[in-house]
Amino acid sequence: MTINMFPILDGHNDTLTRIYETHAKGGRDFFTQSSQGHIDLPRAQRGGFAGGFFAIFSPDAAQDQIMTENLVIGEASYEIRPLPAIDPTTAQKYTLAVVAYLFRLEAQSEGKIKVVRTIDELLHCIQNDILAIILHIEGAEAIDPQLNALEVFYQAGLRSLGIVWSRPNAFGHGVPFKYPHSPDTGPGLTQAGQELVLACNRLGIMLDLSHINEQGFWDVARLSEHPLVVTHTAAHALCPSTRNLTDHQLEAIKESKGIVGLNFDVAGLREDAARDANTPIEIMVRHIDYLVEHLGIDSVGFGSDFDGGITVIHEIGDVAGLPRLIDALRKRGYDDAALCKLTHENWIRVLRETWR
Ligand SMILES: [Zn+2]
Repeated sequence: MTINMFPILDGHNDTLTRIYETHAKGGRDFFTQSSQGHIDLPRAQRGGFAGGFFAIFSPDAAQDQIMTENLVIGEASYEIRPLPAIDPTTAQKYTLAVVAYLFRLEAQSEGKIKVVRTIDELLHCIQNDILAIILHIEGAEAIDPQLNALEVFYQAGLRSLGIVWSRPNAFGHGVPFKYPHSPDTGPGLTQAGQELVLACNRLGIMLDLSHINEQGFWDVARLSEHPLVVTHTAAHALCPSTRNLTDHQLEAIKESKGIVGLNFDVAGLREDAARDANTPIEIMVRHIDYLVEHLGIDSVGFGSDFDGGITVIHEIGDVAGLPRLIDALRKRGYDDAALCKLTHENWIRVLRETWR
């Protein structure tokens, strides 16, 4: 494997929540190299992973069971029937526990990882090989409609928020997982959702439009002053699932000088949505090409979704395999300047325009 000269900032992973869940049951920890899952510190260092958005996701009490029970697979289609909203009090308690867990990890790390709150802190980490963790909450259930918790989480370090996951909450409606289908699956933001957008603008919290339905997307596009960001998704034209972005949405993101992070889940990349890890790496290159063609080279990045229950192609495998994606992009004709943008510069630019 070639040495990676491009530090990689990544738009989305579920590693924090995954390790919080499994470590208590005797599973892997963040500081020891494991063959399970996708990210731990040693593998991140091998892969040139400089940091990224670490999500806290509040699962339903019976998340896996509900997902399985609601899954309907057809001949050339799949659908997870709409998932129920979860209890906000439980979600808030859970989120606090994972935030606290993160701060304990940071303290144990002896300076190897850092929760970053400003651009200067982010740049300092990248320059000094400190893994930069941007605190992200995926789905705003932990935040009350009065937005008291938003203020507190912001002071604790929250710098990025997904309004919804793929279920409804007090603020909006997430897309049910469905293929083939348009992301236009229901109503837009609620009144509380509209107020959440304005409050995040005021505080400088980046809004992530992954998982939101199309009407919610357009509501944010209308209300938000920040660049539009979708941290982990792909092109609907190449894989028509509800989770992917239409050309019309890409156009709005380009206009806002926003960014799209490419999701590595092969089921969200392949035209037939097959969960086939033997798919060649060209599938990822094809989506990057398409996004660059529609958004421009300044508005595309990575958004792996590592540890998010996804299927990563064997050629990449886990975070240590990231240099292979860089190699594939270089072979495709992306030069050093373009690779710098795709791997970290674009994320830094958008955060610079969003955080205050
Ligand atoms: Zn997600």
